Amino acid sequence: MAVTESPVAPTSVHEGILRRQSQRESAARTYARSLPIVPVRARGLTIEGADGRRYLDCLSGAGTLALGHNHPVVLEAIRKVIDSGAPLHVLDLATPVKDAFTTELFATLPAGLADDARIQFCGPAGTDAVEAALTLVRTATGRSGLLAFTGAYHGMTAGALAASGGAQDVRVTRLPYPYDYRCPFGIGGQRGAELAARWAENLLDDPKAGLPAPGGMILEPVQGEGGVIPAPDAWMRRMRALTADRSVPLIADEVQTGVGRTGAFWAVEHSGIVPDVMIMSKAIGGSLPLAVIVYRSALDQWRPGAHAGTFRGNQLAMAAGAATLAYVRENRLAERAATLGARMLGRLQGLAAAHPCVGDVRGRGLMLGVELVRPEGEPAPTSDREDARSGDASPVPGAGAPPADPKLAVAVRRECLRRGLIVELGGRHNAVVRLLPPLILTDEQAEAVLDRFADALAAAERAAPHPDDPAGLG
Ligand code: PMP
Repeated sequence: MAVTESPVAPTSVHEGILRRQSQRESAARTYARSLPIVPVRARGLTIEGADGRRYLDCLSGAGTLALGHNHPVVLEAIRKVIDSGAPLHVLDLATPVKDAFTTELFATLPAGLADDARIQFCGPAGTDAVEAALTLVRTATGRSGLLAFTGAYHGMTAGALAASGGAQDVRVTRLPYPYDYRCPFGIGGQRGAELAARWAENLLDDPKAGLPAPGGMILEPVQGEGGVIPAPDAWMRRMRALTADRSVPLIADEVQTGVGRTGAFWAVEHSGIVPDVMIMSKAIGGSLPLAVIVYRSALDQWRPGAHAGTFRGNQLAMAAGAATLAYVRENRLAERAATLGARMLGRLQGLAAAHPCVGDVRGRGLMLGVELVRPEGEPAPTSDREDARSGDASPVPGAGAPPADPKLAVAVRRECLRRGLIVELGGRHNAVVRLLPPLILTDEQAEAVLDRFADALAAAERAAPHPDDPAGLG
């Protein structure tokens, strides 16, 4: 296979490593394809490549690095464990490090869960915790059905993949997630979200719906991989009421949204709901692998070994994670994410006004997305383009949204990289440029990120073939 074309100045070390990677690593590799860089040093927002180039990292290990790369408190916590002579591998045994992590994590939990919670340490990845959550609720309820949502992403193991719509499982019932810009009901706004909730309610109460009896409902408070789609707070409350009324455990997947990312410590706090199960990973390990579920103790009905695994005791991750949780809490980084995120969103909205290819800009806190479209394309058909909220006849933004433009998104990501900015793509059609900067981002860094992004967007738009000249022949 050919070496991925690098937009950065080549050096022999850099090129050699990339060449060997493309020769030896799997065809299934992902980020490595779009980011042909060879990180050798990193601090905060910045990564330095083997070629000497520096990048502003707004991918943050897919949302893992709440404090950026190699934060001093994280490094110190790791060194302390190493220097103490503590065992690094302990299966799921009790240790002072684990005890401290659990205490710190419980201190962050939403009121209403903290007093009555149990924790299960899972295998190291988010997807392990998703599997654990599914086993937990299915055991407790004796029902094997699962309610999951369109556009969801929960991981790559069998159960998580089925919950994400990436594999078929007859036990999974898929419900519409409120997606304002591409509302499945062609309405958008509060009314679109209300219809999504009614759809779910109706299905659950229809004895002829053919629904496998649900053992749980799993949702992301903000869909990340699905295209940065924040669920409206009122819809979250509807889902909570709907599941509580029918004794269906509600599982909040906070793998990506947790630890301040969305402007609250846990994203469920925006709506004030308390889920029955919370799935946590990514930032809780302070850049090292760690995944847990926290749940209401009444659900704790599974047997010893019902969810096991060799790697449930990563002491370095627990120490790094406890230090991260404490730092985010003490320095009010969730509030910081809310303010800075709102400011960045405002500037991105300015870009949307100036660039017709920006169909939608959205996000919560420092989880931001820019959906790119072909403005001249035929909009998706809609049943109702009127704003049912206000009763006025103005078109709802996004109802009948133009087609997504994944090619432009790829070009924007490439132009960003050329300008030393790392971003990722997501969304149903891979046309959403995602920004997930660390919560320690300064005002100046935020400006630098947005300057580079604006420049990259303009360059990609200029280079995109004109609709009357799709082959780009001029
Ligand atoms: N849930 C959500 C919401 C995620 O965003 C992800 C990963 N992007 C996962 C689960 C799976 O986590 P992991 O890749 O660590 O298995």
